[in-house]
Amino acid sequence: MTRPDLTGLHAELIELLGERGVSTDLGTRQRASVDGCPMSPILSAQLPLGLADLVAYPSSAEEIGQVVAAAYRHDVPVTPRGKGTANYGQGLPLHDGLVLDTTRARRVLEVGDGWITAEAGAVIAMMEAAARQSGQELLMYPSTAQSTIAGFLSGGSGGTGSIEHGTISSSDFVQALDVVEMTGSPELVHITGDDIQTYLHTYGTVGIIAKVTVKLEPLRDWRCFYASFEEFQPALDLIRVFGDMEPSPRLMSADRPLMVNALPLHPGLPRDRVSLRGIVRADEVARASRLVEEVGGRVDAVIDDAQEMIRMSMMSYNHTIEWTQKAYPDTYFHVELVGQALIDRVDEVEAVYPGGVLHIEAQKDRPLGLLVGEFESAEAVYAGYEKYAEMGVFVHSPHQWTVDNNPGRAMARAARSDPKGLLNPGKLVEGAVVNQVMTTDNS
Ligand SMILES: Cc1cc2nc3c(=O)[nH]c(=O)nc-3n(C[C@H](O)[C@H](O)[C@H](O)COP(=O)(O)OP(=O)(O)OC[C@H]3O[C@@H](n4cnc5c(N)ncnc54)[C@H](O)[C@@H]3O)c2cc1C
Repeated sequence: MTRPDLTGLHAELIELLGERGVSTDLGTRQRASVDGCPMSPILSAQLPLGLADLVAYPSSAEEIGQVVAAAYRHDVPVTPRGKGTANYGQGLPLHDGLVLDTTRARRVLEVGDGWITAEAGAVIAMMEAAARQSGQELLMYPSTAQSTIAGFLSGGSGGTGSIEHGTISSSDFVQALDVVEMTGSPELVHITGDDIQTYLHTYGTVGIIAKVTVKLEPLRDWRCFYASFEEFQPALDLIRVFGDMEPSPRLMSADRPLMVNALPLHPGLPRDRVSLRGIVRADEVARASRLVEEVGGRVDAVIDDAQEMIRMSMMSYNHTIEWTQKAYPDTYFHVELVGQALIDRVDEVEAVYPGGVLHIEAQKDRPLGLLVGEFESAEAVYAGYEKYAEMGVFVHSPHQWTVDNNPGRAMARAARSDPKGLLNPGKLVEGAVVNQVMTTDNS
């Protein structure tokens, strides 16, 4: 990398965005240099891992293009950033330089029949609200519903809606992207078809997303459904039933009391009981209730409210882990697991780590779990991965930040779209581990 000309870039950004569009304030730079990775004690112990020299706030897709072109001219590394909730360090500016914060480029540009176009920094919950006004809804959104759409596509994988539609890369959720390459041109390049895959879950290392078009489907009449049990196994068995059910629920999660007791107080979450909760179609509530009662559970609440759907989503996936870590500070690390053994051999799965407790999400073919265990050392965490491999359980490690979604494909593209190696440097590395949890077609 050529030596970055930070002074030159700073001056040009002020000209481009005005004084309020760029910051050199230390506190601002520090806040922009950490993401959700403190969820991992292994990553947390290594912080700080880079400090932004500058933070820029473009307020439109076009300004994103101009900022990236300016950084190219001055040889300054660029780490894009939405809300900074990425939970394994994807957003850390390992080589310092410029953090490009997209949260002011947040307009929903157009809602059509079956699609919605928004700027990179649009808040996903706002996109869902805009879609609902047109009688439609997003195919999927993460439990971090307040995060940005480009951050989700670049750093996330799935969430509410994934039982039916899979992940961002296994579905046709993403219809088009307008991206900026790190080649000196501010032009937005329109990406469609298979090419889209290269930009998903690759942390902005092959291009910066400026605009997004994602698919919508007709609005369904959903209910938030809360049930509870004495024992975990019946709830686990129903996770499989709900995963295979047609029509699919939008979400279905289950937890042991340790995690339930860490969630916000809610009439649908009686303390000290196992929780099974999800978003089901209104006309499926009777069937869901029957299934629960047949195996000795009880239905605690059924709620018809769009906001409740967002609240319930924020008690799913990694959010459950975050609540657990808050309730029992400095105790737990977590790993992401996929496989039928999560249901069939739950005791063995949990016993891999001391204090192991599984949070589980229904999926169509293979349930997805997030397991907390008491943290001893990084070596003990990695040793557990081998035991899971023996059980046929895929592990996705939330303790490393290298691009794991087809890194070879990303490197081939970055050779053309980022010849100076300035896009989120340090994340795209030769021989990186491949994430078998997110999609089945990684190679
Ligand atoms: C408690 C918790 C719960 C979570 N739950 C889920 C979940 O249910 N599902 C899920 O998929 N993820 C989940 N995540 C991970 C993360 O929150 C989501 O992926 C989120 O959507 C990221 O959005 P963000 O705006 O915060 O992006 P950021 O964290 O700011 O960025 C994410 C990644 O994308 C890159 N990036 C940001 N903007 C752009 C851009 N315009 N162009 C190119 N690259 C860009 C960043 O450099 C970074 O590598 C969770 C994280 C936490 C901490």
